[in-house]
Amino acid sequence: MKLDFELVPDSCWYSNLRSILTPAQWDAVRRKAYARADGKCTVCGAPSRRLEAHERWEYDEKNGVQKLKEVSAVCRDCHEVIHIGRTQLLGGEARASAHFMKVNGCSYAEYRKALGRANEEHRRRNSVPEWKLDLSELGKFI
Ligand SMILES: [Zn+2]
Repeated sequence: MKLDFELVPDSCWYSNLRSILTPAQWDAVRRKAYARADGKCTVCGAPSRRLEAHERWEYDEKNGVQKLKEVSAVCRDCHEVIHIGRTQLLGGEARASAHFMKVNGCSYAEYRKALGRANEEHRRRNSVPEWKLDLSELGKFI
């Protein structure tokens, strides 16, 4: 899937770059991501004047390590799909599911199937008692 869900384990909701870096560092990371994107969402390619910075993490469930892999610029619609758990809580799922189907060229049944897989992965990752942060690749983004 070109556009997929990335559900963050519940215990990691607050360990995001914005809260770890100083405001000036976060601003630099964000601006670099926007400059690389050149005014287009890096997922769906739509031109956007208001891109958002998305942190992509990789989860090593065996060792309980949450590793920063990428900071990319995405449009608001894609960002809402990526964090579908939060979007559902805010009541925006109808729009997010429509965007998911449009970008991936898939059916509602495929959307539901992908969501089921993501929720299953989320439950599994929530059973890891503690996640350690690995920011060894942060240097690439500052
Ligand atoms: Zn997009």
